[in-house]
Amino acid sequence: MRVINARTTTVTVLALLVISLTMVTSPKAQLFSNRVINTEIKTGAIGSTQSYTDQTAWYLILVNKWNYIPDDYEIELIKLSNGQLVDKRVYPALQKMFTAARSAGVYPRVVSGYRTAQEQQRLWDQKVAELRAEGYSFGEAMNKAQTLVAVPGTSEHQLGISVDINADGINSTEDKVYKWLDKNAHKYGFIQRYPKDKTAVTGYIYEPWHYRYVGKEAAKRIYEQGLTFEEYMAVLGAES
Ligand SMILES: [Zn+2]
Repeated sequence: MRVINARTTTVTVLALLVISLTMVTSPKAQLFSNRVINTEIKTGAIGSTQSYTDQTAWYLILVNKWNYIPDDYEIELIKLSNGQLVDKRVYPALQKMFTAARSAGVYPRVVSGYRTAQEQQRLWDQKVAELRAEGYSFGEAMNKAQTLVAVPGTSEHQLGISVDINADGINSTEDKVYKWLDKNAHKYGFIQRYPKDKTAVTGYIYEPWHYRYVGKEAAKRIYEQGLTFEEYMAVLGAES
């Protein structure tokens, strides 16, 4: 038995080595390595490695099934009181939005902020396994999972500028929170990222809980014109 175990271990180690080497050499794998610089409040500008033009400012970065997170993406995170992490640049707007909600008698909470590539991978694997258990073939499970969970490297949660918001579970219902956010989030620079009846454009089912920071200007236009972020970016591109 020991010999078998040892052999299994060797095989596992070798397999891991192959995987790590692939990670190093594959440019796609590097996309998953967005680094967390720190989790403390820091003043000053974010790393100078970002070279977005105005139109692709950090708050307008398009990440979806067809646009992976850039491999040089850097984030400075800040920890919320409940332990969730967000990009420190969106924190003031998020805080303002939550304060406004509370003063309107609505009590939201962030249930998911920044996620590492590993966390996203775990969610993905879990969803595929669930669907397999429901009887879907591997191919079907992969296809269906893509409408429900982002493939690692394509989740806005890995950017730290998106949050899943639920009710606090005590003072508000989910419905009340979603309604308030739907009407007011844009005033603070946030948009509902995966609206109803837009699956063909966003690639995702309706997610009334998923909000993403785009800045006030973009949020206002997206809200008023009923656009998805994909559509807004296409409009911006056409206008420039
Ligand atoms: Zn989300």
